[in-house]
Amino acid sequence: MNKTAIYQQETICAPATPQGTGAIAVIRVSGADAIAVAGRVFKGRNLAEADSHTVHFGTLRDGDRIVDEVLVTLFRSPRSFTKEDSVEISCHGSDFIVREILKLLVRNGARLAAPGEFTQRAFLNGQFDLVQAEAVADLIAADSEASHRTALNQLRGGFSRQLSGLRAQLIHFASLVELELDFGEEDVEFAGRDDLKQLILDLKAVVSPLIESFDFGNAMKEGVPVAIIGSPNVGKSTLLNVLLNEEKAIVTSIAGTTRDVIEDTLVLGGVKFRIIDTAGIRETSDVVESMGIERSRRAMEKADVVIFLFDSEDTFRELEGLAEGLDSKKKVVWVRNKVDLISPLPRAAPGSTDRPQFTGIADKVLEDKSKAVGDMAVIPALRISAATGLGIPELRETLLDAVQQTPGSRTVVTNMRHYEHLLRTREALDAVLDGLGMGVTGDFLAQDIRLALHHLGEITGAIVTDDLLDNIFSKFCIGK
Ligand code: GDP
Repeated sequence: MNKTAIYQQETICAPATPQGTGAIAVIRVSGADAIAVAGRVFKGRNLAEADSHTVHFGTLRDGDRIVDEVLVTLFRSPRSFTKEDSVEISCHGSDFIVREILKLLVRNGARLAAPGEFTQRAFLNGQFDLVQAEAVADLIAADSEASHRTALNQLRGGFSRQLSGLRAQLIHFASLVELELDFGEEDVEFAGRDDLKQLILDLKAVVSPLIESFDFGNAMKEGVPVAIIGSPNVGKSTLLNVLLNEEKAIVTSIAGTTRDVIEDTLVLGGVKFRIIDTAGIRETSDVVESMGIERSRRAMEKADVVIFLFDSEDTFRELEGLAEGLDSKKKVVWVRNKVDLISPLPRAAPGSTDRPQFTGIADKVLEDKSKAVGDMAVIPALRISAATGLGIPELRETLLDAVQQTPGSRTVVTNMRHYEHLLRTREALDAVLDGLGMGVTGDFLAQDIRLALHHLGEITGAIVTDDLLDNIFSKFCIGK
């Protein structure tokens, strides 16, 4: 890769901290001349003579003009993130100063870095494999404990190490099978077919769970989609507000292209949840009935977890119809709201005012409802009162349980690109197995093995093309 060699000659610079005012900002410089470029504008210790991993106080100067007082941290190749000579300049955190310093560096021999270029160099210089490079991006974007854990696991080697090991064994087999081809007509078999079959099965045993983990991994990264479904007036928006206020962690209201996709996200116990179709929930109840059902179905389709909310036998029956034929992979939580109206709450301790006291009216409602509803208590459902907060902690626990029954702490695939290549790998492995079963000739086997190797290699970066690299690293922001 010639392009690579050229890149490594050039010295690049970029802000490593986000735009805006802060106590400090950091500017990264990396490349063959990084120390020389910084040395040209830094007045303080002579950087050319300074040791790796040392910090120096001084001023940055544009001729006689002092641009800022800074700390310069020095990393000598190969002991840096990019493995090149690198300098990090900590300056005062103003966009103006950062711009001035970048201008100064560019005038003195550096150029502005492309998005992800630091990480790309780190990858090209063997700091880590491609899965890990991509995990750097995920780690920075992680906004919940679970997505952070997943990204960190991948950064530390995660599944790519495992795949690399098996790939190496497969390469060995591929070469044995291809050696057989060299012998042409002679009926030789260097690659033991039973051993090959066993290796393919071992590989499939690693690849398949990774493929299956993708849905879960994606949910962890993007947020587990949750739908709150119920008839008008059962308390959906009240519940939504309680959940959102419960944790003061309303992250965003993402407005999409249509109001259909307005979503709220909340983080419970380190897991991010995405409430589907917040717009539909918040809408007043005068929606045309058929539209309400249609909308509910769409929300359910998108959800991994469905909360069925009802407050009476009638509203329960309405849900039963909707719940029929629901994809069995979805986690369903039945929740009965407004229990404050139905069962008298345990009376608050004398003198306490933190629980609403229910009067004869509530007791009357209880009586009426019991008659109308029959023995509602037999419907197994979580009992809550969105209005008083009763049962909300239990609902939170239930939501967490619903997602944590899935893969646990093992490795999880979160990246669409990895997922695709894992699928292709498995297809190729199945083709090898079929071939072995039918006793096909070595050249057919070799072809499918090569294909599996190719896709495995694309995941870990053992096989890379410039297009692929550009595609991956251009998604990073500048300075990473
Ligand atoms: P939605 O149409 O399903 O979104 O229902 P809302 O959240 O708008 O609630 C409908 C009505 O029920 C409102 O007047 C709420 O104050 C009331 N409500 C919601 N939850 C409870 C509850 O737990 N107990 C009582 N008593 N009223 C509730």
